[in-house]
Amino acid sequence: MDSTKRPLVFAANWKMNKTIGEAIDYVYALRPLVKTSPNQILLGVPFTVLRVMADYCQGSNLIPGAQNMYEKDEGAFTGEISGKMLLDAGAKFVILGHSERRGIFHESNEFVNQKLKKAVEIGLKPIVCIGETGEEREQGHTTKVLTHQLKRSLEGLDPTQIGDIMLAYEPLWAIGTNNTATPAVSQDVHLFCRRWISKEFGEKAADKIVILYGGSVRPDNAAAILEQKDIDGVLVGTASLSAESFGKIVNCLETKHLNFT
Ligand code: PEP
Repeated sequence: MDSTKRPLVFAANWKMNKTIGEAIDYVYALRPLVKTSPNQILLGVPFTVLRVMADYCQGSNLIPGAQNMYEKDEGAFTGEISGKMLLDAGAKFVILGHSERRGIFHESNEFVNQKLKKAVEIGLKPIVCIGETGEEREQGHTTKVLTHQLKRSLEGLDPTQIGDIMLAYEPLWAIGTNNTATPAVSQDVHLFCRRWISKEFGEKAADKIVILYGGSVRPDNAAAILEQKDIDGVLVGTASLSAESFGKIVNCLETKHLNFT
């Protein structure tokens, strides 16, 4: 499979951080650092700063997006935000099924699947997160867990839609722990996911789908991760909160995928 056909993606996940003023300062600091990057730079921000981010990112290579959505368009769903509302506020993508949503807010694969179908239907690019716990890995259940998550979360999509979504492999034992998966371990899992997609949805979809790695990515380990053939980018939490460190991650690798158009 030819990795030069896929864009290289750097996605920030700010989680529940930053006020409007802090978000604006961040964009001013990041823009000059990454202005020559040929890659996709995505900023997953809180709902409250999305509209402002969409304005401040205009004319730059920064792409604003959200960290969650609800599957319905509108109605009596107190506290929820629809994909349509996200598009209206300027989001271009949405992170779905993050392990914090699955763990703290009990989101099931089926729930993620409903949101995913809606995001695809309305043209909001989804990043679907999957990953195993440390215990599941120790017990040798990694591929079983991932297969289950992939099967249930992607159910009902057709191969042309699969090629247009992004997956993020985020092992739970690596998130926010400083315990990054080694490049070899991540490459193995990414290849496993790509082969699974190929078997279920065809080689074309597997060739096209962008698979990100997430879990304690930092400026000093990002390049080694990104050099792996089946790793198309990174989803970054903690190290994306500072424009300087996220800028270093975006600029850590100059040669991979430069020919992508
Ligand atoms: C995340 O939560 O998506 C994440 C990858 O966090 P961190 O980079 O802090 O491990």
